[in-house]
Amino acid sequence: MRKFRQSAAASVFLTLSLSLFSQSAVPKLIDVHEHFNGEPGVLDRLLSKLDAVDGMGILLVTPQALSEASAFIAKHPNRFIGFGDIKLDSPDVLQQIDRFHQAGFRGLGEITSSQKNYDDHFYWPIYDRAAKYHMILLFHTGAVARNNPEQPADISFDRMRATRLDLIARHWPKTIIIGAHLGNPDYAEAAEVARWSPNLYFDVSGSTLIKKRDDYGFFRSVFWWSGVVSPHTPAGGPDAFEKLVYGSDTFRGELGEFEESHARYRAMLDACKVPPNVQQMIFAGTMWRILHNQEQEMAADPGN
Ligand SMILES: [Zn+2]
Repeated sequence: MRKFRQSAAASVFLTLSLSLFSQSAVPKLIDVHEHFNGEPGVLDRLLSKLDAVDGMGILLVTPQALSEASAFIAKHPNRFIGFGDIKLDSPDVLQQIDRFHQAGFRGLGEITSSQKNYDDHFYWPIYDRAAKYHMILLFHTGAVARNNPEQPADISFDRMRATRLDLIARHWPKTIIIGAHLGNPDYAEAAEVARWSPNLYFDVSGSTLIKKRDDYGFFRSVFWWSGVVSPHTPAGGPDAFEKLVYGSDTFRGELGEFEESHARYRAMLDACKVPPNVQQMIFAGTMWRILHNQEQEMAADPGN
């Protein structure tokens, strides 16, 4: 009888855990890279696109769009997560991070166009503040647009190389870092820094999968270490392609990339013969695991 009670209690517990788990089933898509700067109507349009694919979007929200975005995210917590789009060189950047954190935002990004190298010690208090809140960091990496070529600008690709994330990933080992655009065009460098850093991932949004469309098999040479056992390779790693997460880089309210980026990712991964279970991790599973781990860390230590 006692044994029965024990096993009954265990099965009730199991049922409860399963029902909690099933309430939050893994979405089919988690898009880490959706910009929002208050463009009218874009949140509703994004919502219907995410509803249609059972997806979740990480909204990269500028400070001016914070109140609109946080109200919308609060209404649709199963579809959106907010990241604060801060500038590393803003004089009040720490206060901005505090405000985003208080609004329930879970990360910072897209960090871009800094006046110093990303890994400069000048920025370390920013990364300390993000770590205190368990925030995820999304950095632009590689070549960067020059939208107003007639205007002088203090911006350089060289400060935003994927290799600039190596030191940050090592110094804040609990901070999850995503480099956008896979360091375009320094893909091999990006992959190599990610290979040794369990807290570093990349998306391959932007022009890369357009540029390489006739040569998608190339990415097998970038993510080369699946199944390799050697003293020169981290032990027990998953498939090398699991260093990728999915990002569409929709911006200025133009959402065409939502579908097109997805189709290009799929075509590249198929061309590289990446198995379906690994593709599931890239499109949703890895970020889902990261977000769940982050929730647990936040519950254990809110950082306030
Ligand atoms: Zn970018």
